[in-house]
Amino acid sequence: MGGVMQGAGVSPGVGSGPVRSIAGAVPEPPAGARHGGDAAAETDTALAALEAVAADLEERGERAAAVGNDDGRDVLNAQALMARDPGLADGVRGAIGGGTAAARAVFDAFGVYREMLAGAGEYMAARVTDLDDIRDRAIARLLGLPVPGVPESDEPFVLVARDLAPADTAVLDPAQVVAFVTEEGGPTSHTAIIARTMGVPAVVALKGATTIADGTRVLVDGAAGTVLLDPSGSEVSAARAAADARASALRESTGPGATRDGHAVPLLANIGGPKDVEAALANGAEGVGLYRTEFLFLDRATPPSDAEQEKAYRKVLEAFPEGRVVVRTLDAGADKPLAFLPAPGDEPNPALGERGLRMMRLHPDVLSAQLSALARAAAGLTVKLQVMAPMVTDAAEAAFFAAACREAGIEHPGVMIEVPAAALRARDLAPEVEFFSIGTNDLTQYACAADRQIGGLAHLQDPWQPAVLDLVAPAAGAGVSCGVCGEAAGDPVLACVLVGLGVTSLSMSAPSLPLVRAALARHTLDECREAAAAARAARSAGEAKDAARARLPGLADLGL
Ligand code: PEP
Ligand code: MG
Repeated sequence: MGGVMQGAGVSPGVGSGPVRSIAGAVPEPPAGARHGGDAAAETDTALAALEAVAADLEERGERAAAVGNDDGRDVLNAQALMARDPGLADGVRGAIGGGTAAARAVFDAFGVYREMLAGAGEYMAARVTDLDDIRDRAIARLLGLPVPGVPESDEPFVLVARDLAPADTAVLDPAQVVAFVTEEGGPTSHTAIIARTMGVPAVVALKGATTIADGTRVLVDGAAGTVLLDPSGSEVSAARAAADARASALRESTGPGATRDGHAVPLLANIGGPKDVEAALANGAEGVGLYRTEFLFLDRATPPSDAEQEKAYRKVLEAFPEGRVVVRTLDAGADKPLAFLPAPGDEPNPALGERGLRMMRLHPDVLSAQLSALARAAAGLTVKLQVMAPMVTDAAEAAFFAAACREAGIEHPGVMIEVPAAALRARDLAPEVEFFSIGTNDLTQYACAADRQIGGLAHLQDPWQPAVLDLVAPAAGAGVSCGVCGEAAGDPVLACVLVGLGVTSLSMSAPSLPLVRAALARHTLDECREAAAAARAARSAGEAKDAARARLPGLADLGL
């Protein structure tokens, strides 16, 4: 038997086969590389390479659409647009005009965009891979190197890569690829999204993945996030049997969320826009618990027009005629910087600065335009529209937001609880609004004083920290309905604990819904309460998780 490697499981299921790696990386062209002096010819060569990449991406998009992968085509067409971006061409022209060789000029021009995306929050940072892929394709053409891509294989294989680009994955044959494993990437990377769409097991962020020799047989468990090297036949069959049992348990768990004894816990989806509605519905979401509206505002110099906002909101609202949609007003600042709403002045700690509702108080016109667009979008629809503000600290801020909502004709105002002060004094905020939604991502960051953008502090960014659970309890007990919409809600074990703490709904990324639904359906409300009490009595995140699991016997059925 070989060793086990641990990464992050982002698409469940088990796959076993020989490893095939994506063709070698394109090297960085040396800094300071100069061209021979004919800047015009060099510029033509560089722009022609970018155009050739764009045309190739479009052609791959057509091939993807021909095998029914319309999403793949859309992603590839978006990449082709990036390759043809006039700003990028200007950057290349400028650098070549200054004497830089074409390949290096392309590398540097992409670098500017790369930095912008990398600093624009987790979702946008995941798009950096798309950008790197376009850059590498163009540089490979310019340097006469093989274009990076998926290997050929005469038997089904486990595809291993540093990270997967849409151009690679969109043309993959799902019958040939039994699993994806990448060294980089996160839950919102393309590898994760495409693997889930294709139903292929995937493990990302696996340190050392690219050092596994081609041909090595591995067993990938996309739920546990593990890769077992050289598995025995019995290990493969045991893993398959467990995955099959879980898959059938998940298929059987349908309908509205509830505990085994019938305590209803609506299960909702986190979305970034109308594009995410389909996955939410496919996974049985009873509505939307967090619509992150900032995606409509990113990457632009001016806010979207009132009509554009109204149209996007209406598309989402129309999809849930019998459900609810919780829209979050613009959460600008800190990890979600917006070009047209810069922080006023220099902020040494942006996460503690002007962000969320604080930023909207500086720009009340942006807030009222958004609230009015929402009210218009909901007019005449049966859906229950709830609107909440991010980063609210005290009762005065909650009252300010509720008044702004009322003025715009929004009937159901709420606030996110993501600042420890708001959680501890939730009873002061409760009379001002109709509901709370706990953002455990930020609540954990602030409770543990650990910046969520710093990977090295991951152990402190754990919502299992008993201090975080201690902050959830007063918010859930303050007398207004209280959901959770941070990542914690999508952890099936923690979801049971949150319900035991009194949380009334759970909102998560769509693929997490079935497992959470199944975990809740296997436990009574009392079992959830006991698990919650045991977790709060623990002295560390690890102990809290173990203590909760010990009181949730139904998890075993799900292989958890
Ligand atoms: C949170 O902080 O938990 C949350 C849901 O908001 P975001 O991750 O968008 O900051
Ligand atoms: Mg937040």
